[in-house]
Amino acid sequence: MSYKNYPMVSRVVFGRGSFNQLGDIIESKRLNVKAPFIYLVDDVFKGNALVTMRIPLAYDDELIFVSAVEEPKTSQVDELVERIILTHNDRPSGVIGIGGGTVLDLAKAVAIMLTNEGEAKDYQGWDLVKSPAIYHVGIPTISGTGSEVSRTTVLTGPDKKLGINSDHTPFDQVILDPELTVGVPKQQWFYTGMDCYIHCIESLSGTFLNAFSQSYGEKAFELCKEIFVAGNLTDEEAQDKLMMASWHGGMSIAYSQVGVAHAMSYGLSYLLGTKHGIGNCIVFNQLEEFYPDGVKLFKQMKKLHAIQLPEGICADLDDEQFDIMIDVALELEPLWQNAIGKNWKSTITREKLKSLYQKM
Ligand code: NAD
Ligand code: ZN
Repeated sequence: MSYKNYPMVSRVVFGRGSFNQLGDIIESKRLNVKAPFIYLVDDVFKGNALVTMRIPLAYDDELIFVSAVEEPKTSQVDELVERIILTHNDRPSGVIGIGGGTVLDLAKAVAIMLTNEGEAKDYQGWDLVKSPAIYHVGIPTISGTGSEVSRTTVLTGPDKKLGINSDHTPFDQVILDPELTVGVPKQQWFYTGMDCYIHCIESLSGTFLNAFSQSYGEKAFELCKEIFVAGNLTDEEAQDKLMMASWHGGMSIAYSQVGVAHAMSYGLSYLLGTKHGIGNCIVFNQLEEFYPDGVKLFKQMKKLHAIQLPEGICADLDDEQFDIMIDVALELEPLWQNAIGKNWKSTITREKLKSLYQKM
């Protein structure tokens, strides 16, 4: 038995207003005046002085707005890397991602591809990255995915949706400033928050569970209940706690694995472009047989927050399209193994998955 030797984020700051420390934090990381910091910022903050005016641009630093309407693609990473290389003579001092899981994943992938040859799609998989990434900083503005702490960057490529999982992926520095999440719209708050909740359920009820994952998973689960069920927190408390729930949820799956909802949600995302948070909710809503207690509480939270999930998103699909989703889902073997056990193939048949997708 060989245990995972897991890399972690080297440095982290937590606190309301801690975003103001960014300039001081990165100052010593500037290689020279020609080696810029590249800021990848969610374009939802265009014209938002609270965020953009506080970005400490200097010398040749560049701010690039990126859209989070679609999830990151390998081609998008390649385009950003090419643009950065063509615009600047020197290799950047660092990449700083400011946004949700979409922008954080892009920042991690761009930092990796600035020092590794070829295209981003060549690195989708496990431990394929050869050279350390350039210095990269993650600043989440919405809580739940755990991308700020994870060892992966999830990308949709030409033939698969799969992360770049590597020791070089985690951020060198994370700034957790819950104030940055103030403007998140309610539905999105719920969907991305439920990503964290589902990480907990899938980790805590999986066969890969161990004391390391459990300790983080239980804490995140407890925080999710305080935020989404109890409802007696101030807005500030809820923002602070959800940011920490996301972190702990990410730490929990780091040393175990996610499960059925994630595997099937990847299928939806690959075929229909359904985004991760909402896709997980649509799938999880149909998974009573796998996660009875988790789904029951999920439905309660959905009702409490008056969330209407889209229905019938698979209603008009043909057999070929179902097959594509099923292929994507079944390829994620570790997720099924965690959820069901070593003999998962005896119960998780193509017909089974089709019948579940048909309900969504
Ligand atoms: P997101 O980054 O896609 O953002 C969702 C929406 O919220 C966007 O419209 C965005 O503009 C908006 N938004 C973000 N912050 C805001 C703010 N402060 N105010 C107003 N609007 C704001 O959402 P997400 O759920 O955080 O990320 C989903 C992505 O994360 C997916 O691509 C998924 O694959 C990835 N993911 C990665 C990991 C990992 O470990 N790397 C884990 C889970 C999910
Ligand atoms: Zn997730």
